Formats: sequence, structure tokens, C-alpha cells
Amino acid sequence: MWNFSFILPSFFILVIFLGYYFFLPRMPLRKNYTFLKLLLVEFAVIILDVISTWVDIQYKGHSYFTLYFFNLLFFILFFVRTYLYYSYTTCLVNSYRLNHSFLKYIGMIPAFVCCIIAISSVFTGLLFYIDETGYHHGPLRLILYINLFIYIFFSVILALIKKDSFQRKHELWAALGYNVCLLVGAICRLIFPNFLLMDTFCIMAIIIIYLTFENPELYIEQHVDIFNSLALIDYLNEFPKYKDYKILAVMIHNYNDMREIYGAIQMDKGLYLIGKFLSRLVSRTKVFYYRKGRFIIITSPQADTKKLINQINERFTDPWTSKDTELYLEVNFVQLENITHKESTDLILNTIANALDKNDITNKHDCLYIGDKEIIENEKIFNIKQNIETAIENEAVEVYLQPIVDSQTYKIAGAEALARIRNTKGEIIMPSDFIPIAEKNGDINKIGKLIFDKTCQIIQEHDLQNSCLKWINVNLSPTQFIMTDLAKEYGAIIDKYGVDASFIHLEITEESLVDYTVLTKQISLLRDIGFQFVLDDYGKGYSNLIRLKKCPFINIKLDMELVWDYCKDPEEIFPNIMQAFKIVYFSVTAEGIEDDYMAAVMRQIGCTYMQGNYFSKALPVPKFLDYLEANK
Ligand code: C2E
Ligand code: MG
Ligand code: MG
Repeated sequence: MWNFSFILPSFFILVIFLGYYFFLPRMPLRKNYTFLKLLLVEFAVIILDVISTWVDIQYKGHSYFTLYFFNLLFFILFFVRTYLYYSYTTCLVNSYRLNHSFLKYIGMIPAFVCCIIAISSVFTGLLFYIDETGYHHGPLRLILYINLFIYIFFSVILALIKKDSFQRKHELWAALGYNVCLLVGAICRLIFPNFLLMDTFCIMAIIIIYLTFENPELYIEQHVDIFNSLALIDYLNEFPKYKDYKILAVMIHNYNDMREIYGAIQMDKGLYLIGKFLSRLVSRTKVFYYRKGRFIIITSPQADTKKLINQINERFTDPWTSKDTELYLEVNFVQLENITHKESTDLILNTIANALDKNDITNKHDCLYIGDKEIIENEKIFNIKQNIETAIENEAVEVYLQPIVDSQTYKIAGAEALARIRNTKGEIIMPSDFIPIAEKNGDINKIGKLIFDKTCQIIQEHDLQNSCLKWINVNLSPTQFIMTDLAKEYGAIIDKYGVDASFIHLEITEESLVDYTVLTKQISLLRDIGFQFVLDDYGKGYSNLIRLKKCPFINIKLDMELVWDYCKDPEEIFPNIMQAFKIVYFSVTAEGIEDDYMAAVMRQIGCTYMQGNYFSKALPVPKFLDYLEANK
């Protein structure tokens, strides 16, 4: 006997999902369209499951045509539904190729073949047939399940292979979860055909999809009530594949200060009003809230953005008012033009973020136009960021050593360890290109530690402590200098390689000497281990002699610009400062010595050590060892 007690509640649950789909805002994304198709097809399948079961029971009262019609329609929609679940997975993993090439049609083949078999059953009876005793299974009845298993299999494989494309951790589990639901549903249908259980499991799969991927609230910035940056990422990932576009970013000028002045609650109300205004001006699906008072509008390349800017500017001349809010705000614009499908979403968002920061700083009230040049610049930074990450991940940061020579003898006295990384082509990226980026995003801490570790390893492997080298300098960036566990970590590395800490001099710049409390604590911790300190880049920018007094440097390195300036145009102050340094800090090193004249000048005014391309550039370890051998 047929049992409808599972299928009917499933039907009502589905009606709720359909209601939610139509009443809440949604991005025009393939994923969402596929989900809508899935809901509609599921809706039809449930109805047809009930109708076809019912006419099969009452076969005597219905014509052959009615019986064939409802059963056939049910089977076809069953196959389509199976395909749609698979298709949804391809959308999730952003399988652009799978959705827009002949691969898409290959993906349809199993469903297509099954539909042909179902239709041909009217004549062949392969899937089912109807005679005077009613509905009967055909010899190919199991293709219903085989088709389902094939799609589940490919869906799972796809999710696993492309697991990196899921933005949040639990999404992979959810993608596997709804496929497992379908599998269990198919098995239940096979074992208990009379209970019409498959639809209940399909509804469970839909619930998983809804909660994890389709809940519109995930994509809406709550207090502003427009789409958020997650929605923007999804939209940019998909939309540019079809056409070129322009981006207009609207930014509240001095947002942080304004938030302080008006308070968070009032400001949120203001953002809500601005969001509503922009949504009315363009369409709701083209406006996104992108953190910190910034809105992003996506337009076609032909859109008249000048007019749009004027309209927005004009609106901002009036206050933003609601019942208990009155905000006077100003606005800046950034426009990104001629974006083609070639640029990645990350690059575009990065370029916008940098341009917005720049525009806020420059205090420019009109529109800042960003073109190809800025995109290329950002692409370079973006690529370097990736190279830094790869280098850190593979511990592929390389140590180059530059000799430091004694000014009297010109013999090698020490060396400075300098970091190098490589791009994907194996070409060297210089520190001037990657250190500032690494300092900004905190990667410098890992790079610094790797360089320190590798330098200690080089010292141990080549027994440099027993060579003519008196020390090796390692750079310590200001951000490393405030790490509370720095001394512990560096101490452990020293112990690991059995290196004497006094053989390593840590080079710090004046920027590290800003916070006196941190400075004294860090220096005393590092000195307890045995490290010594060298002041790097003296004379680069503003120098504060009083601040220097607080740190026990054993050597001062003069910045190369200072050295070059003096060599070009000698004056009296410089040699006197040098003498003073020698009294307080024992020794002075001149950086950037490029020819024998510079070397002679520096030697004459009493510089203790010299470093520069005239003696040697920074060298990879084997070449440095050769240099050491030849110059000891
Ligand atoms: P720095 O510590 O002042 O290092 C000296 C820089 O001057 C090196 O540049 C060196 O190659 C360069 N140099 C030396 N002699 C000459 C010369 O005669 N002419 C010219 N034009 N340049 C010369 P490099 O290796 O490109 O490093 C640049 C900066 O990057 C370093 O300046 C340092 O501030 C930073 N850096 C390098 N490696 C590291 C590291 O491992 N950690 C940290 N925190 N910073 C590093
Ligand atoms: Mg240095
Ligand atoms: Mg320097």
C-alpha cells in the first residue's frame, strides 16, 4: 500500500522555501538561478510523484494516455532534478569551464540519455510500461539510480578537487552533506519504494543548501540592508566572465572621524539611508557595501558615471535625516575603468581598496580615476604578495651575504645577511620590492625568522665562527622588534645550531626605537642571550641623537645616501659626527661604497668599516665562501 505521510509534509516545507526565495533579495548569480530551478523542479516532482502514484493505483479509471503522460513526466523531471543538484555543485566550485563550454554538455549526457530511454519506453517498455493490469517496471528500471549515483559521484569528486574555491570552512562539508542526503534518499527509495521517501531526502538536501549557501542574509550587510562584500566577490567572480564593466566606489569622507563625532548608531542609520538612496539611483543588485563607509557600484562601460557622481554629490549637500538622525557628510569617489574579464576579483578589490585609501588621505573631493597603469601596479604588488607567501610556505627565502671590510686593511671583517625571494620564473625579487609589502601585512616576521634561521644554519655548516669573519649582521624589522616572543624564538634557533649569539649582530633602524618601554625590555632580553646591536641606515630621514643614546649599539651604519652626499660635497660636520659616534659606539660602517674614491674618502675621515658594491655585492652562499677564501 502506498504511504503519503512523508511526501505531503515535504511539499509544505518546500512551499516555505519558495516563498523565502521570492520575498528576500538575491544576487543575479548562476548559483541562485540554479537553486530556483531546483526548487521549482522539486515542486513539480513532488506533485507528479503524488499524481502518478495515485493514477497508477486507480489505473482502471484512467486512459493509457493519462497513465503514460504522468509517469513519463515524473521520470523526466526526476532526471532533470538529479542533473540540477550536480549543476549546483559546479556553480559552487566556480567551475566556469564546466558551465560555459562543451563540458557543460558532456555533463548533461547521462540525464539526456535517461530522458530518451524514458520517452522511448512508451514504445519499448524499457523503463516502465502500462498494460491492462496497470503500471509495471521495465528491464532498465535501475537506470534511475545509476544516473543518480553517477551525478552524485561526479559532484563529490568536483567538490573535493576544487575544495579551495569554497570561501568558508564548513562549505565543503555542506556540499558533501547534500550529496550524501541524495544518496541515502535513493537507497531508501530502492528499499522502501512505497513510502515515497526520496523527496523527503531531497528537501533535506535543499535545507542544507539553503542554510549554507543560499540564505540571503549571508550576503546582506545587516545595518545597511544592501549586498555585502561577500556578495560582491561572488558577483565579480561570475559577472566579468560575460562582459566588461566599470566600478564607481563612493566613500564617505573621513568615515572614522565622522563615526566618532556622530556615534555608531546614528552613523549606521545614515549608512542605511545612503544605501537606500544608491539602490534607488542604480538598481539594488548593482550596489554593494564594502566596509568602512564605502559603497561599490557596478555599471556598464557606457554608463554616464559623471551624471551619477553629480546626482550623488547633489544629494550629499543635504543632510541625511530620519526620525532621530541628522548627519552632514561629504563624499569622495574612485572610478575604475575598462575592467575586462582578464583581471581577477582579488586584484580588482585590492586596487579599489588601495585607491580608496589613497583618495581618503589625499583629501580629494572629486573623483579619482584608476586606469590600466594603477591596475598593472597593483597587479605587481599582488604578484609579489603571492611570491612572498609561496616563499614563506616553501621556506624558499634565500640568504645572500654582502661582505663588510675593514677600512684600514680592506680585508673582510664581517658580512650582512640580506633576504632574496624569487618569482614564478625563478627571477630574483629585491628587498626594496618585497620588504615594504611584507612589513605592511606582517609577513616580515616570518621572513625575518627564516633569514635568521638560515643564517645560523650557514654559520654552523661552514664553520664561519672559526673563519676570518668576526660577525654576521642580520636585519631586524621594527615590527619584529615589538614581538614579545622574539628573544625566546631567536634564542631557540641559536641553540638549535649551536651558534654563539655574540657572533650575530642585529641591525635595527631608528623606527624601532620609538617606544622606550618596549625597547628597553626587548633589548635586555636579547642581550641576556648574547646578541649585540647595530644601528642601520643612520641619516635616512629624521635622526634623533637623544633617542640613540638609549640603546647600547656597538656599531653605527651610515646610510648610503648620507655617504654619497658627503663624497659629492664634503663638509665639516660629518667627520665630527663620525668621531663622536666612534667615542660612544666604538665603530662606524659606511654603506654604499661604490668606487675607490668613496672608499678613500671614508677611510680618511676615520670610518671603521665599509660595505658596498666596490668590494662586493651581496652574494649567494657558495660565491660568498669563494670571496671569503680569496680575501681573508
Ligand atoms: P640595508 O639593511 O641597509 O642593506 C643594505 C642595502 O644596500 C642592501 O640592499 C645592499 O645590497 C645595498 N647596497 C650595499 N652596497 C651598495 C652599493 O654600493 N650600492 C648600492 N646601490 N646598494 C648597495 P638590499 O639587499 O636590496 O636590501 C635593501 C634593504 O632591505 C636592506 O637595507 C634592509 O633594510 C632590507 N632587508 C634586506 N634583507 C632583510 C631582512 O632579512 N630582514 C629585514 N627586516 N630587512 C631586510
Ligand atoms: Mg641592514
Ligand atoms: Mg642600511
